[in-house]
Amino acid sequence: MRSVSGRGIGRPRVVVTAGPTREKIDPIRFISNCSTGVFGYEIAEEAARRGCRVTLISGPTNLAAPRGVKTINVESAAEMKRATEQASKRADCLIMAAAVSDWRARFPSTKKLKRGAGGKTLELVENPDILAGIGKKRHKGLCLVGFALETDRLEKNAISKMKAKGLDMIVANRASARPGPFGYNNINIAIFDRVGRRLRVRGVNKRKAAKIILDRAFSFNI
Ligand code: C5P
Repeated sequence: MRSVSGRGIGRPRVVVTAGPTREKIDPIRFISNCSTGVFGYEIAEEAARRGCRVTLISGPTNLAAPRGVKTINVESAAEMKRATEQASKRADCLIMAAAVSDWRARFPSTKKLKRGAGGKTLELVENPDILAGIGKKRHKGLCLVGFALETDRLEKNAISKMKAKGLDMIVANRASARPGPFGYNNINIAIFDRVGRRLRVRGVNKRKAAKIILDRAFSFNI
């Protein structure tokens, strides 16, 4: 790791997002997903062990805040967007491991919705793509790393996401794989980057995978 970062002298600043987001339907119900946050937390911890200044922006998880890491807890995609954009302004690298909910309720209720009148239809609107937004207006020297969880055509989908979102690198894993990616420690990943490198890693735990991801991200001169 170099000691002089692209943004001035000092330790590289790394921002990591982790976990799911929660989109409120009413005060006690929400839309979310199965993300445990383990991968993002491992990456944040490993970056801190390497001497980086790390900000972890975390959706709701059961994990303890990693040592030596500034942790910002958020709930919704809108909150994650605000915190991530703010933290990325002065960062050298953003690693977006969070499973951001693609949709939110158009009209979340301020009161608990009551049952009794039969079924209900929930109107959803798309959340903004945080990573793609940052990819469009990023400052020079910000390395962008995304994740792609795919059920099919892993390589093709991951590479087109990397290009569409303006990323330097994307980490792909398969949603249908056994054991699955959520919370399990024995995973297979594939890493693709903008200079055309491909790396497949099989049967590692998330800590080892975090090291490999950071080695690759640091090869972009963070
Ligand atoms: O959902 P998708 O497969 O497009 O996610 C790929 C990458 O984009 C992930 O790194 C994820 O954190 C990020 N993402 C985002 N904002 C969204 C959806 C996904 O930043 N609304």
